[in-house]
Amino acid sequence: MLEANAVFFDTHVHLDRLPQTMDLKQELGRAAGFLIRDFLIPGVERCGWPALFDTARSVPGALAAPGLHPLAADQWDGEVETELDRFLDDPKTVAVGEIGLDGLLDFPPPGLQEEALRGQLRLAVSRGRPVVIHCRKAMGRLLAILKEEGAQQVGGIAHAFSGSPETALELVRLGFAIGFGGTLTYPGAKRASEVLAKLPEDWVVLETDAPDMAPWPHRGKPNRPAYLALVAERVAALRGWTLEETARITSANARRVLRLQVTGDR
Ligand SMILES: [Zn+2]
Repeated sequence: MLEANAVFFDTHVHLDRLPQTMDLKQELGRAAGFLIRDFLIPGVERCGWPALFDTARSVPGALAAPGLHPLAADQWDGEVETELDRFLDDPKTVAVGEIGLDGLLDFPPPGLQEEALRGQLRLAVSRGRPVVIHCRKAMGRLLAILKEEGAQQVGGIAHAFSGSPETALELVRLGFAIGFGGTLTYPGAKRASEVLAKLPEDWVVLETDAPDMAPWPHRGKPNRPAYLALVAERVAALRGWTLEETARITSANARRVLRLQVTGDR
């Protein structure tokens, strides 16, 4: 179903956390069949960082964004900061993630989430690293913190974005590309398509968030790296791009915001 010469970049995929029923090599083989060859693996919690890097080193085309997800914000302290700082020296690291605020979580409380977010933003800014943002039901607060911490100096990617077109454009002004994934493919996904329609093309990137957030028609089942193709097809249809243009544009955007060489092959 999919033909393109340029390769696709999955800017948010937990290759280190696929269910045991999935074989990583096989999944990557399926993805390669759709020309999905570049992957950014975000961190979730501290104890997962070593495995994240093992996976990133074992997969050609994989890069790492270590950090604490808001669900693990209570782990943030001086010791973790030192450890994260050390992981930022790893040649596989290109960003800090996934960090942010999640208003749907009962724990950790907002104060702890904010503390971990600010601490990680400060580290990212001081090290000149872009950030991968996770935010649910806390967009106003997030934008205020991003500005206060000078996040526009590094920018990054707003992953699984669920806000309004206006908020998306505000993030773009701060240097953040907007990540489109499974939700865009759901029937009746009005908001995500509205955001996609209003976004300048330089700020659109693709993601699966596998093994979560499976696109239509796999909703509710484990998500797979190869399903980025379904997201790409939807983006192509909504923007009026060919699949090749979709690959070329979104991969170039990912490389630019992640500050990778723009020349293609790594
Ligand atoms: Zn994620």
